[in-house]
Amino acid sequence: MDVLEDKAATLSINAITSAEHSGNFRTFRKLFASWGFTDSAYWYRTTIVNPGKEPRELVLEQTTSWIDSISLYTPSDDPTKEFSVIHTGDRLPFNQRPIKHHNFLFPITVAPGQSLPLYLRIESRAAVATPLTLWDRDAFGNHDRTIAYYFGAFFGVLGIMFVYNLFLFLNLRDINYLYYIIFISSIALVFATSKGLTFMYLWPDDPGFIERVQTAGLSFYQLGGILFAKNFFDTRNQHPRFNNLFLFLLTGHSLIILLAFIVKDVIPLANISIAMVQINAIILLATGLQAWRKGNQTARYYLAAWSLSILGIVITALILLGVMNYNFFLYNATFVGSLLDVAFLSFALADRINLLRSEKDHARLLVHETLRKTKNELESKVAERTADLRAAKEIADHASSVKSEFLSNMSHELRTPLNSILGFAQLLELNDAHNLSQTQQENVQHIITSGNHLLCLITDVLDLSRIEAGKLTVSMESVSLRDILDNTLQLTTSLADEYGVTLYDQTPADDFCSIYADATRLTQVILNLLTNGIKYNRRGGKVFIDVSLSGKTVEINIRDTGQGISGDKISKVFQPFERIDSDKKGIEGTGIGLAITKHLISLMDGSIAVSSSHGNGSTFTLRLTLSDSPPSIAEKRSLAQTGDESAFPSEQHQILYVEDNTLNQKLMRHIFSRHKNIELIIADCGLKGVEIAKASKPSMIIMDIRLPDISGYQALKLLKSMRETASIPVIAVSANATIEDLEKGHQAGFVDYIEKPVDIQKLMSVVTHCIQK
Ligand code: ADP
Repeated sequence: MDVLEDKAATLSINAITSAEHSGNFRTFRKLFASWGFTDSAYWYRTTIVNPGKEPRELVLEQTTSWIDSISLYTPSDDPTKEFSVIHTGDRLPFNQRPIKHHNFLFPITVAPGQSLPLYLRIESRAAVATPLTLWDRDAFGNHDRTIAYYFGAFFGVLGIMFVYNLFLFLNLRDINYLYYIIFISSIALVFATSKGLTFMYLWPDDPGFIERVQTAGLSFYQLGGILFAKNFFDTRNQHPRFNNLFLFLLTGHSLIILLAFIVKDVIPLANISIAMVQINAIILLATGLQAWRKGNQTARYYLAAWSLSILGIVITALILLGVMNYNFFLYNATFVGSLLDVAFLSFALADRINLLRSEKDHARLLVHETLRKTKNELESKVAERTADLRAAKEIADHASSVKSEFLSNMSHELRTPLNSILGFAQLLELNDAHNLSQTQQENVQHIITSGNHLLCLITDVLDLSRIEAGKLTVSMESVSLRDILDNTLQLTTSLADEYGVTLYDQTPADDFCSIYADATRLTQVILNLLTNGIKYNRRGGKVFIDVSLSGKTVEINIRDTGQGISGDKISKVFQPFERIDSDKKGIEGTGIGLAITKHLISLMDGSIAVSSSHGNGSTFTLRLTLSDSPPSIAEKRSLAQTGDESAFPSEQHQILYVEDNTLNQKLMRHIFSRHKNIELIIADCGLKGVEIAKASKPSMIIMDIRLPDISGYQALKLLKSMRETASIPVIAVSANATIEDLEKGHQAGFVDYIEKPVDIQKLMSVVTHCIQK
């Protein structure tokens, strides 16, 4: 091939073929003519000879897609013209191409024996590189099919990577994958454009636009690479200096992309973009190297990716610049490099994910380990604390049981002398001889009142201590409210008379409801409220009691017309030992009653409330639950009311009294000394008592519970076990006087259980009952 450079790009075919210029052609022996960026036009000249007998169908192929103008001149068949010409190039619409192909093709037919001269004129503002091939038409067909396979493979790989990484992006929401697919798309665009595919398929009628797409595509490719690297290496935090460069390049490329579609002449922009390729490549490589130096292992894949890509570009560039000889595969090294780039970047991403995962695993392990340690520490601390608490609780329990025991012993010990005090005082009161003066009788009354007060105090303090120790229990059953009200009203009548207060029972007269409560404790509660209503009243005052039912609840209101309680003190009434101003007014009481009442009511799942204002009386309201079942038949706990002392037997009887306390023995002797037909035998311990009972078979036995040898219960058991004594009625008289004691006594088989201090009248009526039997 001969070549001529037309520097002014003005020569015509006629000028070229004239004697003036035809001698200026130089012989050119390379496969690939590359002239770089130039304003010159180039003329190629050759002659094709067909030595055969058949016409040869040939195709001349020029594969660089960006050449502006290519014209093939061949001798004309038309006698009026010397040459016929075929114009093509990327400045002309696609459908004007002589053969509709993404490369520039010219059909050439050489007749047998013909020697055909060819002139090819090339002009382009972009790099002029012209890989020319003269094909046999059939051979070209085969070659073209092969190329189509290569394209298929290339775009196939990119397509798969695109879809796969899009899928990863949507699933993992890792922005790196998005940049990666942007990068893949940019490679596809650059490749398709440089191979003339976008011109052929997308914008065939718009040659000017393709130049713009080419320019924008090249910048888009670089932009994709930078975005990926920027995010992949987190340059903002890890490599701030590179980050600034990246920002600069990103801005530059974005501007080029934008301007490519605006400016009139896009070629200067294209040249800038091409120049930036080198800067880009160096910066991307440097970033990878720095990351690698900093210990980022994933950077190895990244470096491999870009090295291969750059190597491809360099090889292609060397061929384009004519430094290396043309070879189809080497000429396409850029694209092979790009494919490898895509593959290695994908490895880099995968490696990065692995790295992140192993970091996460490590962190998880660390957290797990820390948690385990903390848990162990906590457990041992909890164990320590539990042990401390257990020890403290044991101490507290011990102290509490010591306290309870102390109080119950105290109560027992106080009741024993009180038995003598009240007993002898009662004897004096009952003195048949009437030889006490008025003053003496009044003094005896004082002893009895004070003794009883002391007794109340002992009972209440014991109750309170048992409540605080959680030892007080209630036995809930269905009880008739009417029975309880009758009982309490009866018990308070004499007190009301004493205080000059009238009781008004405004509850229905019939057995109007059953409630769920502990009968004894509820009696105690209502008794306390009625007593308070009377005590904290005025002479001529009133106490009303009424009930109202609503749903499953019964409300019991106890209202008085006393002085009431002022607002600031009302909250204190349920606190133990709070007597407000009662001490000053000289009203008897302990200040514990309402505290016990509140506890008892809450044990019975009820509530108590008070409303009062100073000078207007008070109303205490109890709320309890109604019961569906009829009231249980109330057991007669005491025989006190059944025996009538006037019916005291006249025949001779022996009564055995088992008691160790001499004063109590003496008291009992005095009590029975009033009845000549009763012989009181005394035993000072349990076993003696049993012995005497067996020997003398008394009409009844009065048994103390705390005895020096065996307890009253054990003695009772022995008596019941022996035929001779089994039928003798035994009653208990004891200073163990809680409700539970009474209960226990009845269950053990005592006919009755009388608490000390003994109410003489009550004792006598029980005795009468027993003897009469
Ligand atoms: P006590 O009556 O033995 O003092 P309570 O616990 O029953 O103990 O009552 C505590 C205090 O509440 C009483 O001292 C009294 O000041 C006040 N209080 C109780 N009931 C009434 C009432 N109905 N009217 C006025 N004050 C009352």
